[in-house]
Amino acid sequence: MLDIAQYTTDQIVAFGAGQRRHAGDTIRAAGYDRTLILTTPQQSELGFELAEILGPMAAGVFSQATMHTPADVTEEALTHLNASGADSVLSVGGGSTIGLGKALVLRSDVGHVAIPTTYAGSECTPILGQTKNGVKTTMSEPKLRPGIVLYDTELVTTLAAEMTITSALNAMAHAVEALYAKDRTETVTQLALEGIAAFQRALPAVLQDPKDLDARQTTQEGAWACGTVLGQVGMALHHKLCHTLGGSLNLPHAETHAIILPHATAYNQSTASAELAPVAELFGGQEPGQALWDFAKSLNAPMALQDLGVAEHDLDRMADLATQNPYWNPRVITKDGIRALLGRAWEGSAPMA
Ligand code: NAD
Repeated sequence: MLDIAQYTTDQIVAFGAGQRRHAGDTIRAAGYDRTLILTTPQQSELGFELAEILGPMAAGVFSQATMHTPADVTEEALTHLNASGADSVLSVGGGSTIGLGKALVLRSDVGHVAIPTTYAGSECTPILGQTKNGVKTTMSEPKLRPGIVLYDTELVTTLAAEMTITSALNAMAHAVEALYAKDRTETVTQLALEGIAAFQRALPAVLQDPKDLDARQTTQEGAWACGTVLGQVGMALHHKLCHTLGGSLNLPHAETHAIILPHATAYNQSTASAELAPVAELFGGQEPGQALWDFAKSLNAPMALQDLGVAEHDLDRMADLATQNPYWNPRVITKDGIRALLGRAWEGSAPMA
């Protein structure tokens, strides 16, 4: 099991089947009396279950969380929060719901407890992306990192196989980019490798038996490790490409990350060969990009942007956008190089360095 205490002192983190049933004790111990529960519309039942568990501590359920944290939804949630007299929010769900929790923390003094149900890792970071009038802006502030995170193994057993795989590859992408981040430390490298290894070890078992709670817990530990390094170092080409594609073409978040990861890794592997060598070693391949592509394929992950509805004629524009603002990356970014990478990711063919 991952030794969380070795890596964090400012976040209470707990793992285990049924953790949500102890949420009341944990929230009370942290000094909060009333909690507004947040979910997406799809997970509202889970929100009501939490309200029952919390009893009088529950200050209501707001079930309108949605992708990219739109400002109008946050304003509506803030009105509920102010009217409820809650001193904390409990976000139960994936990155979209936890994003709403962060947006409320930004606008108030409430505490934030997160019960993540995907592997995206937002619960570990001080980062918040918000959308207003169709424009997404991202910020980072220490107070946005949730103070308490409860990983309830039972709650990820409902993730469908495809979401399990894409969300896991999304998490692994944070760790792969952390390995070559300009501002990485030895601890970040160690944690990133722990995160990748956790998924490599546990994903096949989870796919064989989605209700294997031990394997599911290993994936959640991997999510915490990968999310934590995302919050500690700067990301590069992979994240820039996913944000460009996701934001401009409205693509699904986890699937886009899953498809791009082997290609972005291959692009950087000649320049960051030493940093990425452990990835190839872990997956038993010669080259890290190819090894990740083989791993994704073995899990039946989505492999081609065209399957997400991307048109081939969009690729030139995407390559333009992704190379417009200079940003740090281990290998120099060229428009031709990125266009070729996108072409391969669009077709679903193997990555090339
Ligand atoms: P999501 O939160 O958008 O969830 C996708 C869908 O899956 C939703 O309908 C949700 O209700 C459902 N779902 C979630 N968990 C489920 C479960 N266990 N069983 C069944 N259904 C479930 O997906 P995500 O990939 O977790 O989050 C994506 C969003 O999070 C993006 O907006 C992304 O930008 C953001 N994000 C932010 C950070 C950060 O650090 N700020 C990190 C990662 C992702």
